[in-house]
Amino acid sequence: MSRAKLSNILNSSVAIKEKIRSFLIVLNKKKYLFYFVSLAVFFIIYSLAVNKIKSHAKLKENNFNSFLESNEFNNIKEYFFENLNSPYREYNYTVESNDTLDKILKKYNIESSEINKIAVEIRKKKLSNIYTGTEIKLITKKEKEANKIISLFYPIDAITSVEIKKNKDEYIVSKNVLKLNRKEIVLSNTIKNNLYSSAIQAGIEPNIIVEFANIFGFEVDFQRDIRTGDTFEVYYEQFVDDKNVVRSTGKIIYASMLVNNKELSLYNFEYDNKKGYYDVDGKSVIKTLMKTPINGARLSSSFGIRKHPILGYNKLHQGTDFAAPTGTPIMASGSGVILRAQKYKGYGNYVSIKHNTTYVTAYGHMSKFGRGIKKGVRINQGRIIGYVGSTGMSTGPHLHYEVLKNGKRINSQRLKLPSGKILNNEARNKFEVERIKIDVKIAKLRKYR
Ligand SMILES: [Zn+2]
Repeated sequence: MSRAKLSNILNSSVAIKEKIRSFLIVLNKKKYLFYFVSLAVFFIIYSLAVNKIKSHAKLKENNFNSFLESNEFNNIKEYFFENLNSPYREYNYTVESNDTLDKILKKYNIESSEINKIAVEIRKKKLSNIYTGTEIKLITKKEKEANKIISLFYPIDAITSVEIKKNKDEYIVSKNVLKLNRKEIVLSNTIKNNLYSSAIQAGIEPNIIVEFANIFGFEVDFQRDIRTGDTFEVYYEQFVDDKNVVRSTGKIIYASMLVNNKELSLYNFEYDNKKGYYDVDGKSVIKTLMKTPINGARLSSSFGIRKHPILGYNKLHQGTDFAAPTGTPIMASGSGVILRAQKYKGYGNYVSIKHNTTYVTAYGHMSKFGRGIKKGVRINQGRIIGYVGSTGMSTGPHLHYEVLKNGKRINSQRLKLPSGKILNNEARNKFEVERIKIDVKIAKLRKYR
């Protein structure tokens, strides 16, 4: 190689270096270099993180997604986007208690006039309710000192969300309702500790478990009757979105329990516009409570405001009094478990019975308790629980009878409970057809489980 050629090459490489240098100086002057390098560093970190995660064979895709959704990643992202000087910002805000949409938007320095425009629109459409813990997505654009809203998105319940978008100077508010599909499902499990935890373990939604316990409430005492190894099965409706995520649940179609080697299966059946649950013999699961749990008595004081015979002032009488001679037997007005059988406040000798998760009945002023009537004993409707007397705050022998619905005393004489009737004739025929259909469906659904 000649000297001239070599010096030419050297000269040109010096020239290239010089060109890059001057290019960098220009960049530096315009302060773009910082952003360029920042971005490059950012993407290097980003791809390193991606590669590290991908190479980790055991990590599932979900982990990567959760990294992308993580706060750290968001902080990095936010930092770099801020330095890019874009007027647009994206925010995810989790609603706190006492938040209103106005308050939240003020936090993001949105112009009051903009907030008012939106507030008017969403109030008109009754979409202003937001709930603690839900996530709001907000995109803003910085103009002069304040921010303007480009779009706003927030859910108002499990299936409804609101989207607000700017179109020129107007805001367009739209309500999106998820289309849900009805799905039927059969789930079962063996009870280990208690029904609730075993049902949760089987994937049953809490509201279905509560409903299940209510249906069996007249038959099974969930605190006392259940033993480890007992089983249950429930067939019910779910409503799922297009991603197959359960958004809400419907009715229980069939429910079964094997308690103490005794199986009890209940079928949902509607007849004469009355819904109920019936066993295989067409017998309703709900047993009426007696209006008068005593024979040959006279109703002497009904539920309502009255002048109290001992206290002398007007007071709400929260029960029904039946006058009867001392020693007249008092019956349990429904099947259940004895909650109390003892002297209790002004009631004197007192018995209370829990019938299911909803109803409790109570009996006061007894002269003595029935044989074997003790706290925790399970009894059938009609069992003699005690005898009329005048113990406690009482002016003469009578039974003071109370019905409590969800802990609140109600008028027993106006109580309308569906009777523990057995379906007959046409109703029974329809029930048998329905029952067979349900049995066939359960068998199919069990297979696909
Ligand atoms: Zn009374």
